[in-house]
Amino acid sequence: MSTTKDFIVEQLKQKISDFKSEAKEQTVGKVTEVGDGIAKISGLSDVMMSEMLEFTNSGNDKIQNSVYGVALNLEEDSVGAVVLGDFSGIKEGDEVRSLNRILEVPVGEGVIGRVVNPLGQEIDGKGSIESEKNYPIEKIAMGVITREPVTEPVQTGVKAIDAMIPIGRGQRELIIGDRQIGKTAIAIDTIINQKGQNMKCIYVAIGQKESKIAGIVKKLEDAGAMEYTTVVLAGASDPASLLYIAPYAGSAMAEYFLDKGEDVLIIYDDLTKHATAYREISLLLKRPPGREAYPGDVFYLHSRLLERACKLNKEYGGGSITALPIIETQAGDVAAYIPTNVISITDGQIYLEPDLFYQGNRPAVNAGLSVSRVGSAAQIKAMKKVAGKLRLEAAQYRELAAFAQFGSDLDAETKAKLERGKRLVEIFKQDQFNPLSVEKQVSIFFAATQGLLDNVPVEKIIEFESGMYTYLEDNGGGVLGEIAEKEELTDDITEKLTTKINDYKDTVDYLIKE
Ligand code: ATP
Ligand code: MG
Repeated sequence: MSTTKDFIVEQLKQKISDFKSEAKEQTVGKVTEVGDGIAKISGLSDVMMSEMLEFTNSGNDKIQNSVYGVALNLEEDSVGAVVLGDFSGIKEGDEVRSLNRILEVPVGEGVIGRVVNPLGQEIDGKGSIESEKNYPIEKIAMGVITREPVTEPVQTGVKAIDAMIPIGRGQRELIIGDRQIGKTAIAIDTIINQKGQNMKCIYVAIGQKESKIAGIVKKLEDAGAMEYTTVVLAGASDPASLLYIAPYAGSAMAEYFLDKGEDVLIIYDDLTKHATAYREISLLLKRPPGREAYPGDVFYLHSRLLERACKLNKEYGGGSITALPIIETQAGDVAAYIPTNVISITDGQIYLEPDLFYQGNRPAVNAGLSVSRVGSAAQIKAMKKVAGKLRLEAAQYRELAAFAQFGSDLDAETKAKLERGKRLVEIFKQDQFNPLSVEKQVSIFFAATQGLLDNVPVEKIIEFESGMYTYLEDNGGGVLGEIAEKEELTDDITEKLTTKINDYKDTVDYLIKE
């Protein structure tokens, strides 16, 4: 009898020593509810926030490739997830695997010059994206000790901005305004102007018409800007889940270059549509709606995104991510929920005004309501010198112009200021797709603030300006090059510039005679 017992004990001991606990690599759950791009899953126990989920069903030939999703709601007995892409093939009872990693996108040099969707898959028909690395789309922003103040400029090439609302590398500057008044135009001009400026650009298009983006990509290609630009596109017809992850995916692509110590410019066009997509997802996930029906964490939605813009110090590679988020307002209402949120997270805003736009003052930048909290530290010396005076004169003009409407009896000094101001308004006008180099900007601002334009008729200013650039290029004795190289207005340069501008004035026949 005892031998049998011993035998069993022996066997049990053997079994116990043979037993290896294997870590489960994947957990598998089942879809319990699906619809509107949202799935509820039961049976998944240890899922992380934003973890990637894979929907599979061997018996379901509608799902040819796997469909992926992201876990967003982690509840006691179920997980709420958004489906990325086509959810029509998913049905109740399908298997779902959690992949034990945060959603990732391919990053690297391979994405440059390409148009990709928010999953980093090509959508420009130029073949699949080559990349050796993937980066998670969500990442905690770099800490305080890794950062340093903004000191280098981002030249947007837009005169009104570079002079009055300068942007520095690593800054977050909001472009805000009503619909159809040139918000995208400023962003695209800025990308075009980055040619030869050691800047990678990422344009994240959220919820816009695909035809519009095709037009933008064409313009960027024609300008040679796709050589350093990636377009991340989540179109108006894409599911809200893709719109939601698009800016984070773009940010991950930017971080690859940041880690290499490079400078990146990223544009989110626009975050209003991003917030709307997030609201849609949240309501479908049955999260409680708050103000304007947005979920409670809509502030965090944008703050964690924009905090990823940074200027790193030398020890951490010295790279930077400059972010230009765009927000669309309704009837100029900057006090609405989403606009105030984003205004409070950014380092300033470029405020565009419909009245200015329709009066023909394009770009319609309202200099009085726009601010840049850190960028002026990044202006080159020459620009700083002319722009300081310019800003003051433009502000004085705005005040005086309001008064001057009522009276006609003006003293000579006021009249002179008004005349100067009218000319400033003219030189801030600028066509789209026509960014201007910093040395040319300095030369025209110099001319204006030195009073050299005072006897040029207001309606001739635009003509004078373009003529002056051509003259300075051809007959300027290299003065533009000197400004670009020295970055400041030395006595020599000031003298030369004054002489050359006066020489050019001798060649035109429309000057006002004293
Ligand atoms: P949406 O609200 O549709 O996104 P938006 O504010 O981004 O619009 P854009 O699409 O950039 O505006 O521009 C609206 C229109 O104004 C376009 O037709 C564009 O060509 C024109 N436009 C923009 N900037 C200028 C400019 N500086 N000079 C002349 N036309 C311009
Ligand atoms: Mg736009």
